Amino acid sequence: MRIAIVGAGATGLTAALDLLKAGRQVTIYELNDRPGGLAAGFKAPGWDWSLEKFYHHWFASDSDALKLGEELGIRDRMIFNRPVTVVYYEGRFYQLDGALSTLFPKLPWLDKLPLSGSLARGLLALKFPALSFLDTVRYGLLGIYLVLTTNWRSLEKVTAHEWLSRWAGKRGYQVLWEPLLVGKFGEELYREVNMAWMWARIKARTPRLGTFVGGFQAFFDSVAAAVQQAGGELRYSTRVVAIEQAGNGKWTVASSAAGAGSNTSVREEYDRVLVTTSPRLMSRLAPQLPADYLGSLQNLKSLGAVVMVAALDRQLSTQGFYWHNLPKSSGFPFLAMCEHTNFVSSEHFGGQHLIYCGDYVSTSHPYFMMTDDELRQVYLPSLKRFNADFDPAWVKQTWIFREPYAQPVPFVDHSRHIPPTRTPLRGLFFASMSHVYPWDRGTNFAIRLGREVAAEMLRD
Ligand SMILES: Cc1cc2nc3c(=O)[nH]c(=O)nc-3n(C[C@H](O)[C@H](O)[C@H](O)COP(=O)(O)OP(=O)(O)OC[C@H]3O[C@@H](n4cnc5c(N)ncnc54)[C@H](O)[C@@H]3O)c2cc1C
Repeated sequence: MRIAIVGAGATGLTAALDLLKAGRQVTIYELNDRPGGLAAGFKAPGWDWSLEKFYHHWFASDSDALKLGEELGIRDRMIFNRPVTVVYYEGRFYQLDGALSTLFPKLPWLDKLPLSGSLARGLLALKFPALSFLDTVRYGLLGIYLVLTTNWRSLEKVTAHEWLSRWAGKRGYQVLWEPLLVGKFGEELYREVNMAWMWARIKARTPRLGTFVGGFQAFFDSVAAAVQQAGGELRYSTRVVAIEQAGNGKWTVASSAAGAGSNTSVREEYDRVLVTTSPRLMSRLAPQLPADYLGSLQNLKSLGAVVMVAALDRQLSTQGFYWHNLPKSSGFPFLAMCEHTNFVSSEHFGGQHLIYCGDYVSTSHPYFMMTDDELRQVYLPSLKRFNADFDPAWVKQTWIFREPYAQPVPFVDHSRHIPPTRTPLRGLFFASMSHVYPWDRGTNFAIRLGREVAAEMLRD
């Protein structure tokens, strides 16, 4: 049985490993010149680690990623530490996300308490001037409830806006929760996102964050090497342009060299095809799918991401903060500023200090239309708000990355609207970030999805 996989991201690579293990022949087509998809990285001269184009870290609870690392013998290169996350409020940054050992360094065993994250957040919030004592108690209790409950199905029936406005109190909602929703989904969509999405974030995230020795690119290079060792074929810089039924129960995959026109395509036959790209591209590659399946693909909403990476000759956040959450109302032109080298040592990047300024926006937003120079002019001046001494001369180089399919948006009752990974056309499968639910998309869940869809293909 010959299987084609479109995409060498976390989903495609993991599915390939399991299919190869079960004795299938696998060919992966990848548009990019390397594996990793959205988690792929790049290197500049003098760096011995890659940097992800879009900021990436694992959580200590990312069990599927850790298990894959274990299976491939690279678990010891998945390293964790506890960088500091802060929230901006009226000119200052406050740490509202922490572990109990941050507050009680002499009692590290406190972190073993199942509710340690929620308790720590509650205690840290006591110092947050925006909240009254009552708001703080509500914040802590809400965190505890969300960690303890498993009933996300009832939470997906209500929007996060309605649920949190009711239970977090007006002030707590406005100061803590609403900025997270607005930041991630924008003014137009944030009131429609369901509460299961917020639940999943609180439930599955830990203050301990992880990366891979050499960067996420090195992790995915290792996964791709394992695919090749198992006999899988990886075709990089190759764009799949169409997937057609061949008439004999088989599928024809038409592909061309990245950058070449579709009329120069190579056609090959397979028994099964798995597509791991965006729903939009899936509907273009296989327009012969039944109308209701195509309709469900079109109804899946998502946002794009725009990120500026800047290499500085010195540290920006002198307090050493890693992740800065920036409420849109505070006037920053981006949602988050993340100083990567306050998480991973700058020694891996030739002593340079690397920051990401990132935002999630729709593809019709001006950030998608601006030239790189125009975007730099919008983003760079606000760095002074992180460090009053900041001078543009500190910036030695910048890179801009834009991705149209970056963040699926889950509405009320989302689970009923996700199209099945087994499409109505026999032998054609589709598994994308939009299938990851109720969890927020991430490499861990893409790995899990890859395994699930491979198992389904093997049952077929
Ligand atoms: C801004 C941002 C921040 C993120 N932060 C984190 C984080 O901190 N931690 C985390 O774990 N995850 C994070 N993620 C999410 C994570 O990157 C994704 O969940 C995961 O990489 C998805 O893997 P995938 O294989 O499903 O899709 P993708 O990685 O998108 O893989 C699809 C692949 O298909 C290829 N492709 C597309 N079209 C074609 C074609 N026509 N022919 C051939 N190949 C094609 C693409 O090049 C790509 O390699 C982040 C994502 C973004 C955008």
